[in-house]
Amino acid sequence: MADSEAIATALAEQQRRVQKACEQACRAPQSVRILAVSKTKPASAVRAAYQAGQRDFGENYVQEGVDKIAELADLSDIVWHFIGPLQSNKTKLVADNFAWMQSLDRLKIARRLNDQRSDDQAPLQVLVQVNIDNEASKAGIAIDDIADFAAQLAQLPRLQLRGLMAIPAADASNAQQQQSFSALANAFKQLQTHYPQVDTLSLGMSNDLEPAIEHGSTMVRIGTSIFGKRQA
Ligand SMILES: *Cc1c(COP(=O)(O)O)cnc(C)c1O
Repeated sequence: MADSEAIATALAEQQRRVQKACEQACRAPQSVRILAVSKTKPASAVRAAYQAGQRDFGENYVQEGVDKIAELADLSDIVWHFIGPLQSNKTKLVADNFAWMQSLDRLKIARRLNDQRSDDQAPLQVLVQVNIDNEASKAGIAIDDIADFAAQLAQLPRLQLRGLMAIPAADASNAQQQQSFSALANAFKQLQTHYPQVDTLSLGMSNDLEPAIEHGSTMVRIGTSIFGKRQA
């Protein structure tokens, strides 16, 4: 079983941390949402965070996420975000079970999600994953390709584009971080001028939440600092 008290305490601490970062960036504290990343953690841990007021949860592995979603079906206002790599043979599970898909970077996947999303559901809320540090090993499209990709997504009625997501290089220097966060923030503003529904910049994790908020992040994805270390 998860340690509910430890999770509630850790969550409150992260909320204070986000609030402080917002103050320092002269931003409203409500302008940044916490996404609790619950990958590898049991449903009981998610339930504990939910009971402490958390509503948005992120999962990286399709089957694990779907199992947890089923187990927690009684929590009707929970919001599930898929944030991991997605193979085309698993798109239906995401289309059926998740409210958000944050790691979209291929048109083929987008088309399948659009075809498989049922008409009874709200459109799947999507973020385009951007490879801000041009890492060969990392998913995501280049900043220069965002406009074209967004235009293609606009043709898919069961998907609603809400913004951008990025996972920065782990070994970036401060200068590189500054540069890639600024470039992403500019791309986000640019996208907003074309698509009024775009309101979400998913950037910042446990170790880079403050600079992310300084650069306009509206959603920080926190795993370890809420749920504790994951088993390797
Ligand atoms: C695991 C993960 C996180 C959370 O990472 P922590 O270091 O545990 O806070 C955030 N975003 C993505 C895409 C992840 O895969």
